[in-house]
Amino acid sequence: MTDNWNMLGHEWAVDMLHQHAARGDVRHAYLFCGPPGLGRRTLALRLAQALNCTKPIAAGIPCGHCRDCKQIESMQHPDMNVIQAMDADGLPKEGGTLKVDQVREVQHSLSLKPYQAKYRVALFLRFQEANDNAANALLKTLEEAPAHAILLLTADTPEQLLPTIVSRCEILRLRALPVSAIESDLLERGVDEERARLLAHISGGRPGYARRLVDDATVLERREERLNDLQTLLPAPRVEKFAYADKLSKDKDVMRQTILIWLSYWRDVMLRVAQAATPLVNIDRNMEIEFLAGRLNLSTARRVVGDLESTLEKMDKNVNSRLLAEVLLLDWPKV
Ligand SMILES: [Zn+2]
Repeated sequence: MTDNWNMLGHEWAVDMLHQHAARGDVRHAYLFCGPPGLGRRTLALRLAQALNCTKPIAAGIPCGHCRDCKQIESMQHPDMNVIQAMDADGLPKEGGTLKVDQVREVQHSLSLKPYQAKYRVALFLRFQEANDNAANALLKTLEEAPAHAILLLTADTPEQLLPTIVSRCEILRLRALPVSAIESDLLERGVDEERARLLAHISGGRPGYARRLVDDATVLERREERLNDLQTLLPAPRVEKFAYADKLSKDKDVMRQTILIWLSYWRDVMLRVAQAATPLVNIDRNMEIEFLAGRLNLSTARRVVGDLESTLEKMDKNVNSRLLAEVLLLDWPKV
């Protein structure tokens, strides 16, 4: 793992964390921010490995092969708790709610001495999904955690969390990678040229998402469906939009994913209206994007993008999903 901790991109972040681990100058808590699929969790796990590897290649550089490294990689380490929103069956659920009991449980285990490693690590995924009680409990944990405990959090943006939590963390704002870096990575993984180019663009510079697009054909199919839905919905009568909104809002996670896909599409439309030189994300939809862009003015395109962004924010604040979906679709321009 000598080379950038075996990570694609985020060199500045690896460099900083490597220094912290090598010098034994580790912060109490780190917050990894950025959109899903960017590498937040992977980077957090690499830091946990750098701290707990028993056969480091050099100070702060984990081997990736020892028992601790492997257990951390698979999130099955006895001294590491992974906490995230769950569904009723106890399976990780994006768009779910992280609850106070989950934080309390961790609080207890952090207070114990590590069982096999140097540090006890608590990894909180998508902490923006924590409810108020859970967030307040974490605050207490942050204040009381012993020296052998490290807290790692991921979230889309720091603004979604309590300022009192954020101020106690070292914040790493991860940025999208250049499309060309993703494309090279996909080529190295044996993806053919045309597909690598398309998927790299669609990924919007998120390596994790790009790999998911490669590994799981349904991710790309779902995107295709959602973009087709968008095309159908634009000229559709109100009653059809209501029906679609009703169906969409049944599953918050699906709704979130759909809005993210639509958002990347509408951003492309907006960029085309503004005649920006930025390359499109949805290059396979070039024709329709140009068509839409030719019929809209910039303020309309900008408004649609803004509406999609604020819908995502309101979903995080538990505003009624069906209402949000209805308002969103009814406000789309008729084209
Ligand atoms: Zn190791």
